[in-house]
This record gives sequence, structure tokens and C-alpha cells, in this order.
Amino acid sequence: MANVTLTKVGKLYEGDGGATFRAVDAVDLAINDGEFCVLVGPSGCGKSTTLRMIAGLEEISEGDLAIDGVRVNDVTAKDRDIAFVFQNYALYPHLTVGENVAFGLETRRTHRSALVATLTGAGAARSEESAAIRARVAEVSKTLGLDALLHRYPRELSGGQRQRVAVGRAIARDPKVFLFDEPLSNLDARLRIETRTELRMLHRRLAATIVYVTHDQEEAMTLADRLVVMHKGRIQQNASAQECYERPANRFVAGFIGTPPMNIIDGNLKAGAFVANGVSIALGAEHARISDRVCALGFRPDRVRLVAPNEPASVAASIAALERLGDRTDVALDSPWGRVIARLDADATRGLREGETAGITFDAAHAHLFEPGECGARL
Ligand code: ATP
Repeated sequence: MANVTLTKVGKLYEGDGGATFRAVDAVDLAINDGEFCVLVGPSGCGKSTTLRMIAGLEEISEGDLAIDGVRVNDVTAKDRDIAFVFQNYALYPHLTVGENVAFGLETRRTHRSALVATLTGAGAARSEESAAIRARVAEVSKTLGLDALLHRYPRELSGGQRQRVAVGRAIARDPKVFLFDEPLSNLDARLRIETRTELRMLHRRLAATIVYVTHDQEEAMTLADRLVVMHKGRIQQNASAQECYERPANRFVAGFIGTPPMNIIDGNLKAGAFVANGVSIALGAEHARISDRVCALGFRPDRVRLVAPNEPASVAASIAALERLGDRTDVALDSPWGRVIARLDADATRGLREGETAGITFDAAHAHLFEPGECGARL
């Protein structure tokens, strides 16, 4: 396995009218040997382009890419010793599962007849190399639970099984680095969750260096040792999933990580209280170091409490919608601070009705303050 280092890596494309467009901007990233690194961000943020530059499928316009300390900007994709798993599996439809897994290992004979001979041990293929390939296919198939499917064709498999074959083909080669581009997005919700658990377990067993791209923040958080949140071609935060959740580096990360998203209100800090639209709430000692200024206040839905409508230190609101999710309820409230979401225990919301009034208050110790603007820094 290997470490991967990006230093000021950028990608420029020709935009409309000949202007240059920077899809990836000065990305600095050091991925350690054996680390599961997830690039996450909304559509168009530059995560796939970054991955494709690591793979060698896209030229690097600026900066340096190193694998194990060696600069590889000019090394071709096939010589980087990297395995790539795509969203659409990219399996060979005319090859069986076993043949697909063996494909990357078959260095000299890439015709189907040669693969069949290798896997069956027939004729001229009865060599030491063929035996090693058969052993590797068997080992990988066992790891991924594909043993019983080796003779099937991709069309005879479910989406989840196909994805496992694609992963099998990648791990069979034992590459230095694995790259995954949205590998679960063709699976239904339940299978996605099962497969991501399998991937996490597989990573532990292989101790592999993985760079994984997804737009799904929940998938990203569950998989990542290192979470890299991107927006507009730039890294917004590079930290553990927990750190990104508990101490988002800026307003963009605060709004992107966490479901439902953090409530973020534009207003002013004035004498230790946050004021928006004429309604103020005292913030407490944690924020006393910050002097009066224009800023945004953030608090997570699970830090909100509902109190009586006219209780002091609360924002009066009306209940716009109740989403009952079994053990918990998401309550959407309309207030002078705009729409606020509260995530509450189901038991605490049994008596609530849409259209009723309530007071919103929140745990000030867990409130966040940001500079104004889309990517306003944490204060
Ligand atoms: P998605 O989740 O939708 O795949 P992404 O975050 O992976 O998005 P990229 O595919 O990396 O985003 O694209 C980043 C930006 O670069 C986008 O604005 C995209 O339109 C642009 N882009 C990507 N490939 C090209 C290209 N070949 N030519 C011009 N612009 C491109």
C-alpha cells in the first residue's frame, strides 16, 4: 500500500467563450498509507476531477501528485499501480464473474479463451502463473462472497453483486491505491447501507489506501477515516468526520454535513446575545470572546428544544410540519428567524399538532458562529 500527496493541485478547463475555468483549485492533501479518505461535496465541486487526476485519467494542470513520495504527474494511468472502481461497474458482459475478476491478473493473454483456460487449468495454460491466478481469484471470491457466482455472467447478477465483482477485480491485482467514484449510487437504499458496511470491513482487512468519492454526506461520514469536504474546486475542511460535524470549519461545511442540516441564521452578535429580525437570545460564556459583529448563528436540529410560546429566551414560532420517523420526529417551525428544524424524541412530540405555536430555544454551548457569506469561517 502507499501514501498519496497532492500539493497545490489544480485543473483548468476551457470554459465558454474561451475563458479558463478552474475546476480544482490549489488542492493540498496528504493521504496516509492505509487510510480511507473520502472526497465529498455537491455536484460540480471538483471531487471526480480530483480523483481522475490521481488515477491518471485526467492531466494535472497545476501542482504535484506523488505516490509514496515519487512524483507521478507524467506517469501513465496503467503504470501508477492504481485500481479504479466506477459507479457503473464497467464489467465485461461477455465474461463470467471469475473471468472478470481474473481479467486484471491475466497480463499476457487477454482473450477470453485464455482466461477460460487459466481458470479451468486446461491445455497450455497449466503453468505456474495460471495456478497463481486461479488461487488469487478463489481467494478474492471468498473474501467477497462471490464463490457461488463464479460461472454467472454480469447480466445474471443483482446490482449489489455486480458491484462486488467490480471490487473483486480491483482487489485481485493488489494495487498500491484504490480509487472509488460513487460506487454505490446505482444501488437501492438498503443495499447501499449493506454494501458500505462491507466496504468498511473490507478496508480493515486489506489495510488499503482508498480514495473514495461521493456526494452523499452520510455515506462519506460512515466510511471516512479522513473526510475532505469540497466546494467550488476547493477543500473546505480536511478532518475526521466527527470533527467536521462538531467543529465545522466554515458555514458551507456546517450546512453540508449532518441530516437534517444545521439551522443557520444571519444576524448580529450584540453584547453576548445573538439578534436577528429584532429577536435576541443570549449565547452564554462560550461566545463571550467574540466582539460585536455581523455573523451567522448555527445550531443543529437535535440541539433545539421546544418550550411554551412566550417563555423568556425563546423565539416564538408556529409548527409548519411534523415528520414522524418512528423513534424521533422532525419538526419544521416558522419563526422571525425563518424556518427552523427541530429533531426531537418521538415521545416528546406526541401531543404536538401542525399549526400550533411553540417557543424555540437551543443549547447555547453547542451553538456555532460564522463570518457572513456562503463559506464564512468559523468564529
Ligand atoms: P458530480 O458529483 O456531478 O460528478 P463532481 O464534484 O465530481 O460532480 P467534477 O466532475 O469534478 O465534479 O466537475 C467539476 C467541474 O468541472 C464541473 O463544473 C464540471 O462541469 C467541470 N468539468 C468536468 N469535466 C470537464 C471537461 N472535460 N470540460 C470542461 N469542464 C469540465
